[in-house]
Amino acid sequence: MYLVVGCPDCRQLQLTTARKRFTCKYCRKNIQVSKLNVHYSSDRHDEALNALYRLKKEESSKL
Ligand SMILES: [Zn+2]
Repeated sequence: MYLVVGCPDCRQLQLTTARKRFTCKYCRKNIQVSKLNVHYSSDRHDEALNALYRLKKEESSKL
């Protein structure tokens, strides 16, 4: 399962397959997956990637 999550610390959206512990690739923070804000989940990598791009675009348009 691919998850699109937002890091609660640095707010960066990213793709992860982590089940229990997730390490943010931007700020290296280690967080329990259950505490993450999951924006999207899919079994398909391409779908999750598309969702990530879409969410990042929405995020940047808010600035
Ligand atoms: Zn982070």
